[in-house]
Amino acid sequence: MSNKNNWIVAVLGFLALLMVPLINQNPYYIHLIETIMIYSILLFGLDIVVGYTGQVSLGHSGLFGIGAYTVGVLFLKFSAPLWIILPMGIAVTAFFGAVLALPALRVSGPYLAMVTLAFGTIIQILINEMTFMTEGPMGIKVPKPVFAGYKLDDQTYYWVVCFFLAISLLVVHRILKSQLGRAFEALRGSPIASDCMGVSVYKYKVYAFVISAGFAGLAGSLYAYSEQYISPNTYNFELTVLFLLATIMGGRKTRSGSILGAAIIVLLPKLLDDLGTFRMVSSLLAATIFIGAVIAVGKKRTSIRSTLVPVIGTCSLAAFSFVLTNITDWRLSIFGLMILFVVYYLQDGIIGFVKTALIRNHKVQASDLSHSIQAMSGIHHDHNASAPSNILVADKVLMQFGGLKAINEVSLTIERGSIHGLIGPNGSGKSTMMNVLTGIYHPTDGHIDFEGKTIIGRTSSDIALSGIARTFQNVQLFGEMTALQNVMVGLHHTFKSNLIDIALNTPRYSHEEDTATQKAFGLLQFVGLGELAYEEARNLPYGRQRLLEIARALALDPQLLLLDEPAAGLTAPDIKELVNIIRKIKENGITVVLIEHHMDMVMSICDKVSVLDFGQKIAEGKPADVQADEKVIEAYLGASAA
Ligand code: ADP
Ligand code: MG
Repeated sequence: MSNKNNWIVAVLGFLALLMVPLINQNPYYIHLIETIMIYSILLFGLDIVVGYTGQVSLGHSGLFGIGAYTVGVLFLKFSAPLWIILPMGIAVTAFFGAVLALPALRVSGPYLAMVTLAFGTIIQILINEMTFMTEGPMGIKVPKPVFAGYKLDDQTYYWVVCFFLAISLLVVHRILKSQLGRAFEALRGSPIASDCMGVSVYKYKVYAFVISAGFAGLAGSLYAYSEQYISPNTYNFELTVLFLLATIMGGRKTRSGSILGAAIIVLLPKLLDDLGTFRMVSSLLAATIFIGAVIAVGKKRTSIRSTLVPVIGTCSLAAFSFVLTNITDWRLSIFGLMILFVVYYLQDGIIGFVKTALIRNHKVQASDLSHSIQAMSGIHHDHNASAPSNILVADKVLMQFGGLKAINEVSLTIERGSIHGLIGPNGSGKSTMMNVLTGIYHPTDGHIDFEGKTIIGRTSSDIALSGIARTFQNVQLFGEMTALQNVMVGLHHTFKSNLIDIALNTPRYSHEEDTATQKAFGLLQFVGLGELAYEEARNLPYGRQRLLEIARALALDPQLLLLDEPAAGLTAPDIKELVNIIRKIKENGITVVLIEHHMDMVMSICDKVSVLDFGQKIAEGKPADVQADEKVIEAYLGASAA
């Protein structure tokens, strides 16, 4: 669906929401929709953490509670007005988001789930115990707020929530399509590559949790006024699991998924109370899935086989609903089955499934490429006459893994402006050297100076920003992001705009975004991927993925580029093209370190070659001399004999 259509749907949906209280005055339904909207705001935020950065959080009901209780306490103790209370609700919760982020920096997966769950539980206990502030289990009564001298009632408050839903949608949309959103998504795609592109995993994980918590805080605050009474046991384990399920069921990385997820968790329990509604909805669901599957198979987007299970599953659920005479006994089982079903068979959630079935892939349009491109413009480095001739000096570097000396007192000097080959049999320590040079490993001993400054003890992202870019032997792309977005992550360092700029879409931010987009297109063209700009990285052929990594690395505007086996998996004509690319990179004044197994390539383009064997440097010099060196021949023959 195009961007424009999305906006039209959003605006129409919003207008429809605004109309609800005028058409139907039943407070029950108004409150129901209000709750869905409030949950949606929280889920927008939760999706940043779960969908984009790929972290699990079971702490969001705790954050929701903090937002609600900030309102409760400020009202109870200080009778603070709305315009103070709401920003405070957001700010206080955002602070706790940073606290929740701390474990995410150390653990991931199930461990993170456990720790965040503990966070939520502790918050609930604290709310319960700190009676002097929170009134404990008694709870706090929060009447509807006064705004601009006007006491809001159920109906006007509903519109306030509508307003905040719209604002949240707009802000979260802008954040996620900005450099921040790309940074969050990059974390999920490959944390190592993020760091090596100057996007600090540490910093952006915290950032994601803080922003996410801000939305949870807003939702919690609105919830307190909506319910008009808050008590600790609302913010419990069940709620946090429901939030996570809503994100997964609705579909991650879509706003419509969050809204759908919110609707599901609010309505499903009610739905399962009444047999008639359950029959209707399960039939509707089955029909939707069936039609979606038929279209998807018709358009050859999926095979019949892979749509079989969802279709049969939903159809049998619908059939089952008509056999049932009493739903109460089956409520929990049906709920559980539905969840299992979604988690197993609709991994991109309901919205994700519908999207793949109905919507065509976004293909490259000729006009998108019309940015006239000066390939490589802006990455040209002038040789600085006063700069030392060696850009990188490594002295007696030792890298030990337990007893294994993967690199054993290796010294290297890389001459500025040269192509320096690093060769050796498999397992000789080449990639390890590269990891040491980029701060992924901290060497056991030795010195490494880049541009006269040590890189020992510095973080990968810091080293990257100081001018060392790299590619990876086992490709580390951000798979779910397009080729263009991958390169844009490399251009992250060109952005100076902050969260406010992004939220308000200031000229400063949009200028940066435009400049970066043009640059990214230029770099893609430079490596011959201009046509594939909107293709997801994971769908590119392997050889193209390697080229994309080079484009992304160049986006960092590096002084030194480290290439780890760039020709692996490339066809002969592609290798020729790669050689041209590497030559052009050198012509632009960028120093290159090249790890490669294709000897003719190494021999033809390297100015100097160092040879590693069992972690030791056994030879160094001009390519021809090295090739004739006996020790080198022996190392290679020995390796192939073994
Ligand atoms: P190359 O790139 O030259 O093929 P590597 O640098 O990948 O070789 O590996 C050199 C040696 O270091 C291998 O024996 C490898 O098993 C070992 N090694 C690399 N990384 C680690 C690690 N993180 N932990 C333990 N051993 C490692
Ligand atoms: Mg290697």
